[in-house]
Amino acid sequence: MRTPVIAGNWKMYKTVDQALDFMNALRERGEVSGVEQVVCASFVALPALAQATSGTGVGIGAQTMHWEEEGAYTGEVSPTMLQDIDVPYVIIGHSERRTYFAETDETVNKKTKSALDHDLTPIVCIGETLEEKEADRTQETVRDQVAKALDGRSSAEASRVILAYEPVWAIGTGKSATADDADEVIRFIRKTVADQLDHDVARDIRILYGGSVKPSNIDSFLERPDIDGALVGGASLDPNSFGQLVDAAA
Ligand code: PGA
Repeated sequence: MRTPVIAGNWKMYKTVDQALDFMNALRERGEVSGVEQVVCASFVALPALAQATSGTGVGIGAQTMHWEEEGAYTGEVSPTMLQDIDVPYVIIGHSERRTYFAETDETVNKKTKSALDHDLTPIVCIGETLEEKEADRTQETVRDQVAKALDGRSSAEASRVILAYEPVWAIGTGKSATADDADEVIRFIRKTVADQLDHDVARDIRILYGGSVKPSNIDSFLERPDIDGALVGGASLDPNSFGQLVDAAA
């Protein structure tokens, strides 16, 4: 009932030409149905990508945004600017933004609200650090992050959010969580959403796993009924590898 999602996070990779080459190669693989495909690129590549993917079924996303519509915020990009170029998705609160760019649970909350207010689909990232995991604080950490991200949102709004559980220690390290561990935390996140909002939202909200997902391990995650897809960094950069992930989820 929940449509699976494969979302690529290109981070600070790919020029406009490289992004368009990727899209051409992906197009050659043919259309795939039954899965929502998203590619989150740099701001610079978004306008060209949004045009290149029009009609392909691939959705384009930004990797962050400001919560205000406009203002004196040097270097920032607003939700209205994303809407204007037909970019429907935005990653919010990625751990690299939290670590290197001072993103906090408070800004994640504002950005999530703003994205929903502007009919964008926020892909909200949560996950514990290695230190938190080793201190047995995974559940406490993700519960807190989910509670703060969704605070003030109605059930209807929250069900439009995509959550991505990304243990920080698994991102870009080649060391993914086991499917058992990811499944356990994701089921806990679903319960947290039920407690905070209601059971319908918990049933409808998509929750992805992220952290060193690749074609060789995607099936182990997707076979868990509570894991609705993946947010993928490294393995999303190559069109064949991304295409394999999409095929696995279809
Ligand atoms: P990774 O990155 O797949 O390279 O571990 C995941 C992410 O940052 O979303």
